[in-house]
Amino acid sequence: MPYQKRGGAGFEAASKIAHMEMIQHPVLQSVVQSLRVDDAPRTPAGTEPTLRVDIAQAPVIEDIVTVDAGLQVVPNPVRREKAMSFINPGASLLRLADLERLAADPIMDPRDMSDILGRHTLRPAYLPLRGVRMGSRSMKDTLREVINATLCRGITDLYDVLEFLLFEGWLPQGAPRAKRSMKCLDCRQEFDLPPKQIFGCPHCAHAHYLSDYLGLLSDSDSEESPGEEVAHGFMGVLEVLCLFRLPMLLTKANRDARLANILFIKDGSLMLRAAGFRVVDGIRRYLDWLRAKGSPMHLVGVEKTGQMTEFLEDFSQAVPQPGDVFMPPRRFIKEEIQGRSYDPEGYRDRVSYGTRIGVRLSETHVVALQTPATTLANGGPEVPVPTDFPELEEIVRTLSRLTSARYPNALLPLVHANRQVSLANGRSSRILEEYVMSLMRGGGA
Ligand SMILES: [Zn+2]
Repeated sequence: MPYQKRGGAGFEAASKIAHMEMIQHPVLQSVVQSLRVDDAPRTPAGTEPTLRVDIAQAPVIEDIVTVDAGLQVVPNPVRREKAMSFINPGASLLRLADLERLAADPIMDPRDMSDILGRHTLRPAYLPLRGVRMGSRSMKDTLREVINATLCRGITDLYDVLEFLLFEGWLPQGAPRAKRSMKCLDCRQEFDLPPKQIFGCPHCAHAHYLSDYLGLLSDSDSEESPGEEVAHGFMGVLEVLCLFRLPMLLTKANRDARLANILFIKDGSLMLRAAGFRVVDGIRRYLDWLRAKGSPMHLVGVEKTGQMTEFLEDFSQAVPQPGDVFMPPRRFIKEEIQGRSYDPEGYRDRVSYGTRIGVRLSETHVVALQTPATTLANGGPEVPVPTDFPELEEIVRTLSRLTSARYPNALLPLVHANRQVSLANGRSSRILEEYVMSLMRGGGA
């Protein structure tokens, strides 16, 4: 016991002194000083609404399509060195009238909204992450094969959407299209991408899949342990392809006028990081084309976490009344919200297809959204103004009817979609574990 006593108090005092001495250091002192906040948070100039939408007016939107995805990494319970990731992207189609009825019902738990309300399409995908491979192939090549197979017809059918976005499937045959090229995975030489799902490098004949163009496996990934970012990156791509599937089908059937009555909600931001810019470039062209044709998409990404969400929590005066929209300029976002420096000359954004805005939907609901502007270069205008978003009033009016009083800042279709794609709840994760066991049983693959 005496040992403990001595060690306890004595150690505590010593560490206090060491801590004080550390703070005596001039460099550390100035860092600590700069962290100190003496006053209440300063409200940055310009924290005010840019637009006030009349939400009493009835929306023209009739249907809501919500896209979301769940992801779960499941290790083999017996052999931890083997793991699979399960990705569950899905789109649900709900009628606004049904959702409004639910929003008004104080008893109904939105998580219980059954599929009777609408249609839900899930396109599950599995990716091996550790120790699961095909024959003698490296882990990286196994992943390439699986990603390619996942997009094929009969599995997720999403190659159709990828080809549509990359090769501008909305243009008439023979119309000039943007050139795309990639580096050969083997000889590293650049070559033009042919509009096919499988093709050889013209220099060395190495076989490639169109999915290789997504760049999900970077050069820095090791051959044997590519890492979980691959699964997250692939989930992002699958969500985007689910999002544009219905617009693609409407465009192909020459029925895109129908887009006037559909609101597309994506869980999370409207962007694809890293090599995803290659798809974003196609998305921007498609959105521009729809707008020029007079059938723009009503599209919104809902950010549930992040700096914009936190900013709106701290400064709700940016949107004091329901229907208020806060449209911060790019400099404001960088300097006041993200706390970074902004250089307009060096600014380049190839990964986003939406502009960040804050909207108050009700007395209690303030949401961080992203929505495409009329200009999509660099993600959107440097200083956004209301005329940059011709669909915004309709979007805000629709969303204001979808708030759920049961969850802070929640939107009913997202609560529903989250539940559909969730793999984390007890029952489905047990099913996944059993599935992994059956896949991995018997050594080898
Ligand atoms: Zn080559």
